[in-house]
Amino acid sequence: MIIGLPKEIKKQEYRVALTPAGCEMIVRQGQTVIVQAGAGEGSGFADDEYGKAGAKLVAEAAEVWAEANMIVKVKEPLPEEFGFFREDQLLFTYLHLAAAPGLAKALTEKRVTAIAYETIQAPNGSLPLLTPMSEVAGRMSVQEGAKYLEAFQGGRGVLLGGVPGVPPADVIIVGGGIVGTNAAKMALGLGAEVVVLEKSGDRMRYLDDVFQGRLRTLMSNPYNIAQAVRKADLLIGAVLVPGARAPRLVSEEMVKTMKKGAVIVDVAVDQGGSIETIDRATTHENPVYEKHGVIHYAVANMPGAVPRTSTLALTNVTIDYVLQLAAKGFQETIKSNSMLALGVNAYRGAITHSQVAAAVEQPYTPLE
Ligand code: NAD
Repeated sequence: MIIGLPKEIKKQEYRVALTPAGCEMIVRQGQTVIVQAGAGEGSGFADDEYGKAGAKLVAEAAEVWAEANMIVKVKEPLPEEFGFFREDQLLFTYLHLAAAPGLAKALTEKRVTAIAYETIQAPNGSLPLLTPMSEVAGRMSVQEGAKYLEAFQGGRGVLLGGVPGVPPADVIIVGGGIVGTNAAKMALGLGAEVVVLEKSGDRMRYLDDVFQGRLRTLMSNPYNIAQAVRKADLLIGAVLVPGARAPRLVSEEMVKTMKKGAVIVDVAVDQGGSIETIDRATTHENPVYEKHGVIHYAVANMPGAVPRTSTLALTNVTIDYVLQLAAKGFQETIKSNSMLALGVNAYRGAITHSQVAAAVEQPYTPLE
């Protein structure tokens, strides 16, 4: 099989879908990899590293799309890439088709087989190809929060860990899943006082066990949230209700009770935000705004700030699927890998994922 790696063209996207190490693994398996020159640049991988790993380098995206049977990408194709689609081409990437009916139409019209990272699902319901990005965002949320707590960034001038004789900052995390757990780890590492508000008893038991009393868990209800938010130096929004908009758990009234110069990092902004005063997503160019004396950070693509780490984390979990698809082909892989089968969103001119089909108002055709 010929595997193609085009350069990402979405604004502010510096990740790449294959590292030189991944290329080498595919080449060792006897397959061919075609890489567009500059594809790895944003993540710090030079063309000659891909060359040394056995990939063939080409100048234009058009050459990659024309020659490869399977295209591996990070972000969904943009309209300027739709012209490259062709029948029976295999596309493996984050697609988020529910929010992109035009892309869904282009994929079905051109009969592309599209596998979406975000719908590959483990039997326990977890989404293994989203996990690494939540790990990155959770860890970054504390780093960003610490930065904006500094006085010259407009914050209240508090060091998360305090120093001997001076109390540490209070970090309040709403949602104790992947993002929340990684945020807690970082905040504890820096010496902050950490409270996690959760609604899942099992999750709180887990956090209580693994952190061995170093953080406090609190049942998530409006009363407890209001009490905790009032004393927060750094408030992190990390909730998720699968398939739904993030619940607005922190009201504007609660934000008004926060200390001047406190910081909110709402990681759940990509699902609409869990804090009422997060009324828009921000960008890495302009990440914060101030409301009621509180700094609000609401970047929807936090992993984009650390593309090298994010690329390595993402490709660590995608490479096995790429290797399987390359070795066995689509049909055989799907038969033997039920998690990957759940990732198939479009096949032979039809939408094969029920929720995606409903969202893009196309008929749903189960994968045979
Ligand atoms: P997750 O499913 O691992 O964790 C979500 C947690 O929220 C669960 O433990 C759940 O029990 C809890 N929860 C649900 N309702 C709650 C409530 N009412 N009160 C308290 N807790 C509640 O999800 P995750 O991977 O940690 O992702 C969290 C959010 O971060 C998602 O919205 C995700 O899309 C987002 N995210 C954003 C970025 C970014 O760059 N901004 C990156 C990665 C993930």
